[in-house]
Amino acid sequence: MNKDRLEKFRSLIGTRVEEINNKLSAEDADTEPIAPDVAIGRLSRLDSMQMQQMALNAKRRLKSELQNLQNALVRIDKETYGICPFCRKEIAEARLEAQPDAILCINCAR
Ligand SMILES: [Zn+2]
Repeated sequence: MNKDRLEKFRSLIGTRVEEINNKLSAEDADTEPIAPDVAIGRLSRLDSMQMQQMALNAKRRLKSELQNLQNALVRIDKETYGICPFCRKEIAEARLEAQPDAILCINCAR
């Protein structure tokens, strides 16, 4: 992949990383431990614990995506980005645009 394309994906990934960081800091408020006296009834405390569980799962997904994107940035620096490590072919740009942290080409990912 030439430098121009690499830089294009670097900024694409940078934007996504920023979005995720914003979401993660916004969600910190939702994943605070729930105080026992937060709800009057037992059910609503269970509800808020379920909500918290969902927020934690979403957070975990975002964190792993963030990690994958950071790995992609390392590959951009090494200029190995966009090359499938299995078959050594270039990954289709449409695939990378949809999923900038993709490691394998569509054939090897199947
Ligand atoms: Zn491949």
